[in-house]
Formats: sequence, C-alpha cells, structure tokens
Amino acid sequence: MSDSNPFDNFIATLKKAGATARTNPEVIEVLSHPERVIEVEIPVRMDNGELAMYHGYRVQHNSVRGPYKGGIRFHPAVDANEVRALAAWMTMKCAVVDIPYGGGKGGITVDPKTLSSGELERLSRGFIERLGSAIGPYTDIPAPDVNTNEQIMGWFVDEYGRLNHNQGQAEATFTGKPLILGGSRGRSPATGRGGLITLLTYLKERGIAHEGMTVAVQGFGNVGSHFARLASDAGFTVVAISDVRGGVYYPQGLDVEKIISERAKSGGDERNFCYPKMSVSDAGSAAQVCSEITNEELLTLPVDILVPAALENQITEQNVGAIKARLILELANGPTTTLADQLLAKRGVEVIPDILANAGGVTASYFEWTQNLQKLYWEEREVNERLDKKMEQATRGVLHEHTERGGTLREAAYRVALHRLEHAMLSRGRVHPR
Ligand code: NAD
Repeated sequence: MSDSNPFDNFIATLKKAGATARTNPEVIEVLSHPERVIEVEIPVRMDNGELAMYHGYRVQHNSVRGPYKGGIRFHPAVDANEVRALAAWMTMKCAVVDIPYGGGKGGITVDPKTLSSGELERLSRGFIERLGSAIGPYTDIPAPDVNTNEQIMGWFVDEYGRLNHNQGQAEATFTGKPLILGGSRGRSPATGRGGLITLLTYLKERGIAHEGMTVAVQGFGNVGSHFARLASDAGFTVVAISDVRGGVYYPQGLDVEKIISERAKSGGDERNFCYPKMSVSDAGSAAQVCSEITNEELLTLPVDILVPAALENQITEQNVGAIKARLILELANGPTTTLADQLLAKRGVEVIPDILANAGGVTASYFEWTQNLQKLYWEEREVNERLDKKMEQATRGVLHEHTERGGTLREAAYRVALHRLEHAMLSRGRVHPR
C-alpha cells in the first residue's frame, strides 16, 4: 500500500473502523468500490486558436442515502485515485452529519492559473457538456472545491440550463452558486464556520478554554481564510498562515481581517500577510516582526492547534515526528496519511477528522439545494443557526461514539457514518443481514 494513495488510505480507515463497529462485511465491500467512475476528454479552443484536450473525472461513490454530492476541483495533481478518495470521503461525511446525500466528486487535471478567463469558461462549460445527464438535481449535485468558485458554478448552471432547454432545474444541480443565481446566504464561509463550531464543541466537551489558544492555518483559500477570520474573532490567536507560495509567522498573533482585505486589494501578494494583531510600537514596520516561513515550517510550529486547509497528504510519515501541535483540525480533505495518523495517535495528538471538521460546506450546500427546490430563500441568520446546530450535533455524536468505543476520533466518525450507511443498505435490501 502506498501511503500517499488517498484511496488506499480511505480503504485502510474504512476497514479498521468497520472491524471495531462490527459492520456487516458486505457494507465494507460495497463502500470499497465507487458505483460509477466517469472519465471525459474535454476539447478547448485556446485563445491562440489551437485546440487543447483536458482530462476530467466524476466519481459517483455511493447513493444509498441520497443523490451523489461533492465538489469539482481544478488542479494539476487531479487523478483517478484522488477523485475516488474525495468521492468516498463525501459519502462518509454526509452520513456523519446526517444529511440525505451520497458521495461524489469531480476534477479536471489542469492548472487554471495558466488559462485566460475565456479559456477557463470554455473548459468549465465543456466539462458540463461531457457529463451530460450523469448530473442533475436528483442524481448528482456538484459544488466548488480547490480552484473552483462561484463564477465557475455560474457557468456550470448556465451551461446545464442551456443543454436542458432550461427544463432541468439547473440551479438545484449545483451549489456554491452566486446569490443572484439561487446561491445561499452563508454558503461561502460555511466550511470555515462549521470547522470553528466543531472545534469549539470539542474544546467545551474536553473542558478546555479556547481564548488565546494559538493556531496555525495552512492554506488561505475559501476554507482557510474564512476559518482564520472566524477563529480570530472567536478569541483564538492565529499566529501563522500560508498559501501555496509560503506564509508568515508572528507568535503574538496576526490581524487576519486586515490580511484578507489587503490581499483582496493587491491581488494576493504574499508580502501583505505581515499584519500583526497588536500594534507593534517599537518595531520599525509590521513586516520586520513577522518571519516568512515555508509550508513545511508552518506544519511544525509550536502551536496549540494545527489546521491543514490546503490539500491532501501534508502530514506524512516524514514530517509527523516534528509536529508540535497537540490538536489537529483537518479542514482540508485527507491532509494526514494513514501512517502519520497512527503515529500521531501513539503520541496522544488528537486529530479532529476531515469528514467531520469540514462538513459545514456540504451542510450549507444541502441548505442551498433545499432552498432551490422550494424556491424559498432564507436569511443568513437562519442558515448559520441551522449550520451551527447540525455541526454541534454531529460533533457531539462523534465524541459520544469515541467515549463509548475508543480508537481515534477518525475511527469514531467513520463508525457513526458506517452505522447510518449500513442501516440504509439493509433497509433497501442492498446487503444481506448477517
Ligand atoms: P481554494 O482553492 O479556495 O484554496 C486552496 C488554498 O490552498 C490556497 O490558499 C492555495 O494557495 C493553498 N495551497 C495549494 N497548494 C498548497 C500547498 N502545497 N501548500 C500550502 N498551501 C497550498 O480551496 P478550498 O475550497 O479552500 O479547499 C481547501 C481544502 O478544503 C481542500 O482539501 C478541499 O477539498 C477542502 N474542502 C473545501 C470545501 C469548500 O467548501 N470549498 C469543503 C470541504 C472541504
């Protein structure tokens, strides 16, 4: 088994949790295979007149609890195993938070930063054309993921509507859309917000005061930036952040709000990361008090909480020994390899697993979808209240399972999911009772 193959990592955790939960082996067998793997070739007319071909995937892992649900990623490292793992994690995630979806995921192997806006739009529309009837409001509902955003969802909605002569409830086929196209208030920060609620619930249950706890966040995109801002507002001290180019560290705490607003103004120049939260009277300039760090350095900082919010396979057998945080909140999908997970558990470092910690995004997507189907739209306050309640309930459920049957929090979360998936499979007659 390769420790960096995310689908193998999924299977390893699935089998381990299945053994302690005494899950019907037929359920484990079903979940070890995606129901459908779609691969497409997408021709795109480039701005220079040449034709380029791109490879795309949609993996529909399991639909026993409802339509497939999961994001679409544009990234050069997208491959079949990554998308299979991401789809499988969605099945588990939707079951942990108990929303009526199965798991799916998609991706195109591309570095979107090398494309013009027109090329990106043609690629996005071409992908939806290739997926055809495989997606739809009651079959498979995509959403944003790494390097995809509201604008891309807007193109998806438009293309899907065009192909279906606007008969196909295009807006309910995608979530994470712009508000004007039926997006939900509160969807954009929902993954970060959900992560914060999970963290606060965990700390409260463990009797730990969160004020002043230090946090390092790897990845400053949709998930990482919203989480860092909300965590800072809630009283945590965010001491380090990074994006793909590297990051900054200031042990007394960064002004996350200012970093976000300055980055927006300057188009994301990483030098603007250097804004301390407190005014630094005796330092010549803010930049002089921050240290520039690499992503590898961020992972090993002496902080209370480490928050990987970028990509999978960041905490590995190679660097796990140097990790000093006592708690890891996985906002990215699959940031910790199976071997690293085992080593962390031995050292008593708790990992709040991805399928729980980042489930706020799909939960708000579920709210967006229900609003689209009803054509009845909610205030942001209502979205947030429902989201907070769902995340708190799910976290308490996982913590309860952990107390009852032990293992790691990840195994406990998998057991909660497996219990619901097994119940659904038995009720449908998809597996035989033992
Ligand atoms: P994004 O594209 O908005 O941001 C990704 C961030 O990661 C960027 O800041 C990028 O610079 C950084 N990054 C990329 N490669 C890196 C590397 N090698 N080292 C350090 N940083 C790197 O994506 P996102 O939507 O924020 O997703 C981040 C993670 O959260 C992914 O694992 C995704 O699957 C997961 N996730 C996203 C959502 C959602 O609602 N968007 C929901 C659940 C889980």
